[in-house]
Amino acid sequence: MQDPTPRTDLSTAAQRHLWMHFTKLESFDQHEVPVITRGEGCYVYDQHGKRYLDGLSGLFTVQVGHGRTELAEAAREQAERLAYFSVWSFAHEPGIRLAERLAQWAPGDLNRVFFTPTGGDAVESAIKFARQYFKLIGQPMRTKVISRTLAYHGTSLGALSLTGIPAIKAPFEPLMPGAVKVRTPYRYRCNDCANLGGCTLSCADDLALRIEMEGPDTVAAVFMEPVQNTGGAFTPPEGYWARVREICDHYGVLLVSDEVIAAFGRFGHMFGSLRYGYQPDLITFAKGVTSGYSPLGGMMISDRLAEPFLRDGNLFLQGQTFGAHPVSCAVANANLDIFERENICGNVLQHQGRFKSLIEGLRDIPLVGDVRGDGYFLAIELVTDQATRGKWSDDDADWLLRGFLSPRLYEAGLICRADDRAEPVITLSPPLIAGEEELTFIERTLREALTAASLEYARR
Ligand code: PMP
Repeated sequence: MQDPTPRTDLSTAAQRHLWMHFTKLESFDQHEVPVITRGEGCYVYDQHGKRYLDGLSGLFTVQVGHGRTELAEAAREQAERLAYFSVWSFAHEPGIRLAERLAQWAPGDLNRVFFTPTGGDAVESAIKFARQYFKLIGQPMRTKVISRTLAYHGTSLGALSLTGIPAIKAPFEPLMPGAVKVRTPYRYRCNDCANLGGCTLSCADDLALRIEMEGPDTVAAVFMEPVQNTGGAFTPPEGYWARVREICDHYGVLLVSDEVIAAFGRFGHMFGSLRYGYQPDLITFAKGVTSGYSPLGGMMISDRLAEPFLRDGNLFLQGQTFGAHPVSCAVANANLDIFERENICGNVLQHQGRFKSLIEGLRDIPLVGDVRGDGYFLAIELVTDQATRGKWSDDDADWLLRGFLSPRLYEAGLICRADDRAEPVITLSPPLIAGEEELTFIERTLREALTAASLEYARR
């Protein structure tokens, strides 16, 4: 009989029993699984008591920082009063209050919230909403969805179809048909930007071209992040969002702003679309709404789009047991109290310029190609040669990110993301309470690691 109270150490037990997500499990044959045991403010601690600066906010999530007893208390109180009830024909107070509150903050006419357990479920729900909406208003051919190359929108089969990273889709093909891709605003490597003396917004116009090619009456919705994460914090060029909005209006296509990362202060505003001044038809959100203290996502819709669902016995045919979980909604309300009381967005607005200039300062290191991003969300694209914007071979990228930088940065006490789903980038997304001390630590640690990597690469 198995011992009912296992006593193996945590790393060994993790390696044996816990299937870590998007993780090459074999890499733990060489070194132990890092186990994070507690967090406080911008820092987390591992099983050996070592402290790390959480330069990724967990996963773009822990906006107000770790260890907030107030949020734990909100969860406890709600679990004691009403731990669970569904929102299938019922409602509960934390869900109602949260929806009401989000409606007040969301841009323009977005005033109804459909809650989901995760961000991917929010995206999935938005795909289904767009399709059902067009069927209800008599445009049943509008089923296709458009998104941008490299973008990540989730892993369920619908959301994965929107995701523009071929490598994470290939094992699951065939996916949902009618999910087409348009260009990402990637100015650092844009031929038009390089050859035509500046941005011509051809990346935005690619959307119009694609809609024309697909047939405008077959396209339901366009999904885009305010600033695209995968590939490294692609910010919109001047005029980009106005053009995208204009194209969507022209062709009667819904514009979905996927704000799973962007909402709740990442760019100093409650919603990314508020930062960039455009009006989406739908917003998807998750992560920061609870600062990760409990899982929650959702999508926001206006009365205008809800209208066909409010008559003729129609209903939106979508639901999940844990959509609008009462404990998560209570935690979200307490989290938003902190946002208001501590002016979390204000902290980002106050320090974002300093953060950007610190990271921009790394450009003197030979491997630093581009620095981009906004707010508390920056990326450094790494190159083999600054002058030619040299790209890495797969082997060299593997050495650089997994062989050199990741272990060094971790050793130095900085958690951030070194990623090569496109060109190698380091992504930084600290908790929104970070200030001078944390931001300078990030810069100093990166400077040491990137300088060492540059020297090592030159020797290879
Ligand atoms: N959309 C975007 C823009 C995301 O960044 C993510 C997750 N990183 C998702 C959707 C999926 O969210 P989840 O992991 O909560 O399913």
